[in-house]
Amino acid sequence: MTSYYLTTPIYYVNARPHLGHAYTTIIGDALARWHRLLGEDVHFLTGTDEHGLKIQQAAEAAGKTPQEFVDEIAPQFQDAWQRLNISNDDFIRTTEVRHRIGVQELLQRCYDAGDIELDVYAGKYCVACEEYYADDELLEGDLCPIHKRPVEYFEEENYFFRLSRFQDRLLDWYAAHPGAIVPEFRGNEALGLIRSGLRDFSVSRTSLQWGIPLPWDDKHVAYVWFDALANYMTAVGFGSDDPADQASFEKWWPARHLIGKDIIRHHCVYWPAMLLSAGIELPAGWAVGGWLLSGGEKMSKTSGNVVNPLDLIDEFGVDGFRYYVLADTTYGQDGDFTYEGLTSRYNSDLANNLGNLLSRVATVVGKKCDGVGPAPRADSPLADAAASAWDGTAAAWAEVQPNRALEATWSLIRATNAYLEANEPWKAEPGPAVDAVMGDALEALRIVAILASPAVPATSQHVWERIGLTGQVGDQRLPDAARWGGYPGGVSVVKGDPLFPRK
Ligand SMILES: [Zn+2]
Repeated sequence: MTSYYLTTPIYYVNARPHLGHAYTTIIGDALARWHRLLGEDVHFLTGTDEHGLKIQQAAEAAGKTPQEFVDEIAPQFQDAWQRLNISNDDFIRTTEVRHRIGVQELLQRCYDAGDIELDVYAGKYCVACEEYYADDELLEGDLCPIHKRPVEYFEEENYFFRLSRFQDRLLDWYAAHPGAIVPEFRGNEALGLIRSGLRDFSVSRTSLQWGIPLPWDDKHVAYVWFDALANYMTAVGFGSDDPADQASFEKWWPARHLIGKDIIRHHCVYWPAMLLSAGIELPAGWAVGGWLLSGGEKMSKTSGNVVNPLDLIDEFGVDGFRYYVLADTTYGQDGDFTYEGLTSRYNSDLANNLGNLLSRVATVVGKKCDGVGPAPRADSPLADAAASAWDGTAAAWAEVQPNRALEATWSLIRATNAYLEANEPWKAEPGPAVDAVMGDALEALRIVAILASPAVPATSQHVWERIGLTGQVGDQRLPDAARWGGYPGGVSVVKGDPLFPRK
């Protein structure tokens, strides 16, 4: 069985889960569910990044130990993902023992390879980014380009990873693996970063206590990138002596990473260089998303435009929110969250299209077919629409383009609504003609339920049961399950409450 190991970035616990976190996590969840439908052996990982100066400072300010502090925030992420119906197979916290062991192993391997060396660093440092900046990277007035606040001058003895040695090896690797980064223009950004020259980066701090000590020099703790990036391996057993963990790492690695455009440098340049140094296989791929903006700005605590996804699901339902996030943004580009956009998507695609289709089918089957769903025709006029919906949906998920996948799935809903309007079975006398039309519409709904299930899993299961099918929609296997003719006929169709009451 093909294995498919997918990761989201781990989220820094200096903030509560917000829409930006939910965006990437929902895309990861939908992808994971899609690959499960394809019959692949899926392992979907998310988690929290819990070390570093910002956490140490925030904990001090709150009068807590850093461990107490992160122990309060991490469960909020776990809870948010549960409420958003995220199907992650594991959740890694970087304060776990399994993580510390693996980070130290990775550091030791790069140190033994001669790629980590002691040096003095002096430079301008953004505490919020935990990153040094060169003068030409700063905004006017020595402001951090991300946080737009003043950087501080730091000088300290650090260990450095000799990234500058890896330019050719990285370029060669990417040349041998075209399409490793999607969308393509984001891959070109990564190549541009590599071609423009690589600077060694610092991997340790002596000024910091809240982190993982370097295995060969415990005055230093690992900082940010070795600690954070290694989660993708430590979660599946890297660095452990236990044979079961080693087998797990063999089975799952390499991962496919979902990342945001602001962390391309770290994930597509630093990370593969670290793996090359340590002699570990590079990732299977990267999908790079834009930001989900709010009112045209990146969501952040400092700009005060943070949207809490959990507030939205109270109003629009989990699937209403998930659908909007997936359907309304072109993956790779920035999206802009607006309440009006969410309401309009909800009303048009969910209430009017999907909800209305299920409700009119169930009503007509109730009135004209005694509530028993007829079987579809093999030569139905809708069969072609179903085939092209499958083709388009599958192609778009393969390219990590959820909005196009849903557009393709929804084309079958639109075709079925149009088919019903053309045939007007609600006006006809009960009989074979009505049965034929309703059997076709039910079959289309069956296929829609499967294809839409990665995006709106609970709704799909609901549709599945309302049209009289048993078992779990998520247990269906593509492509067979999407072939025309699977609806059995002779089963009870239930007219229930509207799926998505109009807003
Ligand atoms: Zn910054």
